[in-house]
Amino acid sequence: MLKNVILDILKLTRKPLNAKDINTELLNKGKKPNQTSIYRALERLEQENLILKINVNDSTAYYEEVKKKHHHLRCLNCNEIECVFDRNLDTEIEKSSLNLSNQGMKVFNYLINFDGLCIKCNN
Ligand SMILES: [Zn+2]
Ligand SMILES: [Zn+2]
Repeated sequence: MLKNVILDILKLTRKPLNAKDINTELLNKGKKPNQTSIYRALERLEQENLILKINVNDSTAYYEEVKKKHHHLRCLNCNEIECVFDRNLDTEIEKSSLNLSNQGMKVFNYLINFDGLCIKCNN
């Protein structure tokens, strides 16, 4: 099933991919699904909470397997998205959310995107 193949690809690459990257990976595996089936499979996986759709600072949607809360760095040179895990950052934001609660606001979620260079491009 296309859905399972896509899930495997996302698990193996361990970094967010957009639909075009996924299509390339599928072609490498000798599969030639059309764009519509890819999007439909991604939508299903997202609904089943098996993958996460992430929005970075452009209009392209990226997908990744579900992991614990983290952030992303978009490489301005190669356009790859790196996952960023930073417990300190999360602790600070939790404090900040608490401050906002004390001021009468309510925080449901937050999103941090870094723009910069990935390890590969920065070397
Ligand atoms: Zn890069
Ligand atoms: Zn990620």
